[in-house]
Amino acid sequence: MLKVNAIAATSATDPLVRTTVERRDLGPRDVLIEIRYAGICHSDIHTVRGEWGEIAYPQTVGHEIVGRVIEVGNEVTRFENGARVGVGCMVNSCRECENCRAGHEQYCTAGNTGTYASVDRDGTITQGGYSTHIVVDEDFVLRVPEAIPYEKAAPLLCAGITTYSPLAHWNAGPGKKVAVVGMGGLGHMAVKIAAAMGAEVTVLSQTLSKKDDGLAFGGGDYYATSDAATFEALKNTFDLIINTVSAPIDMTAHLGLLRLDGTLVSVGAPPQPLEVPVWALFGNRRSFAGSGIGSIAETQEMLDFCAERGIAPEVEVIGADQVNEAYERVLSSDVRYRFVIDVDTLR
Ligand code: NAP
Ligand code: ZN
Ligand code: ZN
Repeated sequence: MLKVNAIAATSATDPLVRTTVERRDLGPRDVLIEIRYAGICHSDIHTVRGEWGEIAYPQTVGHEIVGRVIEVGNEVTRFENGARVGVGCMVNSCRECENCRAGHEQYCTAGNTGTYASVDRDGTITQGGYSTHIVVDEDFVLRVPEAIPYEKAAPLLCAGITTYSPLAHWNAGPGKKVAVVGMGGLGHMAVKIAAAMGAEVTVLSQTLSKKDDGLAFGGGDYYATSDAATFEALKNTFDLIINTVSAPIDMTAHLGLLRLDGTLVSVGAPPQPLEVPVWALFGNRRSFAGSGIGSIAETQEMLDFCAERGIAPEVEVIGADQVNEAYERVLSSDVRYRFVIDVDTLR
């Protein structure tokens, strides 16, 4: 057992504090990763504040993890010491169910093992990446291309794959009109990836304050959702809307922006339900869908895609003692566009 430095929440309301967590002894298929950077996802905040349900404290979160392999189990074949690697939102799955066998382990019917706040195979609760080291089965470890600097690679492991997966699944590409709702961590990656896929991208943000950024990230248009005229001007326009908002949105208004057979996919995960009046779906035969992270193979595909296209998140690197302040800034939409913890400040 390895005891390593970490940051943890001790209750739903207290600030996160420095502490230690235990990492299991290396199993034959495990790798030990020295973490260099860990991104801050809004899901970390929902989780530690108990917004998605009660959790056990203390809890270390963080599922945008990058670093290097420093030890490998004796049956590990895919990684060697020194490999640049990443770990995203899950660290295991049953591997036997229909979805796992089809390579969709994020949709494991037995539930995938989340990187944090999940019951691990040994019965312990998984502890995430705001820590100096982690032990992970090699099948759930990604290779980080050399072209992507460590700190910029971290947010790809959740924000990148969570937006890449629905954009790929719903065929964002040339000739497709895609809207991205909310331009935070996930949203800004959705804009960059959809534009790189060749789609015509419109950003729908609460205000126009980030318009220059949205256009620089590849958006062709940028509208404020606080202005009712937006919903008139863009009625019946989009093939695909990716909703990344962490709070409920007006579903009737947003669904009205879809053209014939268009789909609104929610990746945003507010604790409250999104209310969908069926009438908003009848017109234009619209669909409302959800999407959760992405498979390991798809995550590798996304990392390689980003490396080839020169796509990377905009990050603000912070020290371990700035995490609580960063949480407040995420909550007030004051993030440009992902906070990433320099884990060297925890050593
Ligand atoms: P984030 O950085 O806080 O971005 C969310 C953005 O939503 C904000 O930047 C803001 O954009 C907009 N927003 C916030 N509050 C709003 C409100 N009350 N009304 C309208 N717009 C609002 O969060 P994130 O890390 O990107 O995560 C976004 C959501 O996705 C969270 O709920 C998270 O838990 C969820 N998530 C889901 C998955 C999945 O697998 N499905 C994976 C990761 C995260 P503007 O300033 O542009 O308006
Ligand atoms: Zn996340
Ligand atoms: Zn399974």
